[in-house]
Amino acid sequence: QVETLKAKLLEQAQEISRLRSELGGTDAEKHRDLLAAENERLRQEMKACEGELRELQRQQQAPCRDCPHLQENAGLQEQLSQLQREAEETRAKVVELNLEVQQKTNRLAEVELRLKDSLAERAEEEERLSRRLRDSQETIASLKSQPQQIKYIIKTVEVESAKAKQALCETQSRNQYLQEQVGMQKQVLKEMEQQLQRSQKTEAQLRAQIMMYEAELERAHGQMLEEMQAMEEEKNRAIEEAFSRAQVEMKAVHENLAGVRTNLLTLQPALRTLTHDYNSLKRQVRDFPQLLQETLRSARAEISQAIEEVHSTNRELLRKYRRELQLRKKCHNELVRLKGNIRVFGRVRPITKEDGEGPEAANAVTFDADDDAVLYLLHKGKQVSFELDKVFPPQASQEEVGATIQTAGMRRRGSHLLLTLPCFSQVFQEVQALVTSCIDGYNVCIFAYGQTGAGKTYTMEGTAANPGINQRALQLLFSEVRGKAADWDYTITVSAAEIYNEALRDLLGKEPQEKLEIKLCPDGSGQLYVPGLTEFRVQSVEDIKKVFEFGHIKRVTECTNLNEHSSRSHALLIVTVRGLDRSTGLRTTGKLNLVDLAGSERVGRSGAEGSRLREAQHINKSLSALGDVIYALRSRQGHVPFRNSKLTYLLQDSLSGDSKTLMMVQVSPAEKNTSETLCSLKFAERVRSVELGPVSRKAELGSWPSQEHLEVLKTLLGDSPGSTVPGRGHASPSPGQLSSRSASIRRKLQTSG
Ligand code: ADP
Ligand code: MG
Repeated sequence: QVETLKAKLLEQAQEISRLRSELGGTDAEKHRDLLAAENERLRQEMKACEGELRELQRQQQAPCRDCPHLQENAGLQEQLSQLQREAEETRAKVVELNLEVQQKTNRLAEVELRLKDSLAERAEEEERLSRRLRDSQETIASLKSQPQQIKYIIKTVEVESAKAKQALCETQSRNQYLQEQVGMQKQVLKEMEQQLQRSQKTEAQLRAQIMMYEAELERAHGQMLEEMQAMEEEKNRAIEEAFSRAQVEMKAVHENLAGVRTNLLTLQPALRTLTHDYNSLKRQVRDFPQLLQETLRSARAEISQAIEEVHSTNRELLRKYRRELQLRKKCHNELVRLKGNIRVFGRVRPITKEDGEGPEAANAVTFDADDDAVLYLLHKGKQVSFELDKVFPPQASQEEVGATIQTAGMRRRGSHLLLTLPCFSQVFQEVQALVTSCIDGYNVCIFAYGQTGAGKTYTMEGTAANPGINQRALQLLFSEVRGKAADWDYTITVSAAEIYNEALRDLLGKEPQEKLEIKLCPDGSGQLYVPGLTEFRVQSVEDIKKVFEFGHIKRVTECTNLNEHSSRSHALLIVTVRGLDRSTGLRTTGKLNLVDLAGSERVGRSGAEGSRLREAQHINKSLSALGDVIYALRSRQGHVPFRNSKLTYLLQDSLSGDSKTLMMVQVSPAEKNTSETLCSLKFAERVRSVELGPVSRKAELGSWPSQEHLEVLKTLLGDSPGSTVPGRGHASPSPGQLSSRSASIRRKLQTSG
């Protein structure tokens, strides 16, 4: 704002100077203006000369030595230097002139001052002159009045003496002089009047000029004042705006401040509590190590006491567990013993496509709705009933097997679910009991007996999607072993062998054709072993599957017709379970023998010859040897003829002593197979009855002469096909009688076990 005011003042000064020049500047000013114009002209000229010089220099830079312009150039340069000199002089002159201008401006100011002074002087002079004029007028007036006196005096003189005349002369000269004086005075007065008039005129002029100046100045002043006022207003407005803005900002700041203050106010108590907390925490931290030590000490004491208690409880529990284990084993053995060490089940397969159609494929087997241990066979128009430990009808599925095994596991943990399960599933309860025995260190044999095509392989091996006893038993074995892993270390190994034509061969070995021998252990323990029989250690069902696949591949590659071959040979899967109780150091070894026997059908004596006859003879021999062994065991004979066949010899330690045996007798329900079915069932019943050892059962079945059993077995094993089978009313017992008998046996079993 000050700057704009200054600019405006400058403008006003310029305006004044313009007005002044309009009024007519002084000579010096005019001279200065002329000089300034001259100066400007010279400056223009110099600029033009400089431009020319530049042009010349540019031309000079061009390579032209003998150029005709050189001289011209030199001349021009001289001219240029001349001009430069002139310019320099002019510049000096300009400086001088500037100085002169300055001086003249100063002088102008002085002149103005003097003008003012002279105006004052003139006023005084006017005053003085008017005074003198008044005086002169008065004098003139007085002088005018005087001549009459003088005339009078003259008259008087003319009358009187020469002296008077002289005095008159003198008076006349004096009058002359005075008249001259008056004329002079009049002249002076006239001049004075003229001068006064001029002065008055000048004064009027000056006055008008001054008034004009004053008006101008006043106007400028007013304008300036207006502008200043406008500026003031603007300034005030700006100040107000700034003030209001500042006020708003201030207000906001105040609000903020108030917020901050309230925050501070709220924070203060929080800070106080924090400080308090911090102090208490500090105290706690200071006290913490000590507290921790104390707590640790007491915790240690508590823990050691608890450990001590747990130790003693553990010791007590271990003691109880061992006692219970012994008791369980004893009970289990007792139960198995009461049930009989040899259990016989019958399984009837469904009618299949292979059985063909028509009357030959008709179903000849029926079941007792009330008794799951009895089945009826319609043979040659007669219905013959058989009682086994358990009979499985065709609809008994493999799936039920798995379910039964799992449920059996639950039963041992206290559930009674099994009691409500379908009757078919009980076969696997038996399998489960046998697997448990095997883990406890007993030897177990599970046989599948029956004519070819009756379902032995199906029951033992099953199909990939529907596995049989072998896999499910092993699965249970693994899960049992896992369950006991906390206390026991178990090693499970698997061997697979085949007995064909009384030759024992290793199915997992490198040389399957090699015939293996069964030998007595050299340690004198009486145990048997097979040197060179491959054993695979297995840890899961997957391992077992691999072993089975391997064995199958061997059998397939070795034989041209696997089905034919398999029905002519016994296939054995020998699972050995070795256990170590980590707490007692007790070691157990149990063997699970899973045997898929050769087909039990009798080969037509007339048609068979060569290798077929030899096969048949070998099979008959081994199966009758099995019958003999079981008979000898049952009748507690001193000599058991294990060595009569490779099969019984190999299984010697798994058939004698505390060993347990399960015989699964497979039968076909087709009409065309009834005679073979009859033989199989008779064998099963004989085996079962022979085995029943306990006194109570023995008493009930005591009417069976042992010699008769032998006869029956021999008949069954193929010596006299078609001969009638003596026995407990097998020819004609009524189903009712059978049911009551089996029920009485079961009752006894239940009460004793
Ligand atoms: P084996 O081994 O006694 O000669 P297989 O086990 O080979 O007899 O069985 C002969 C046929 O009967 C096979 O095709 C088998 O699938 C079928 N089979 C056997 N038992 C059953 C069953 N319980 N349910 C369904 N099919 C069966
Ligand atoms: Mg088979």
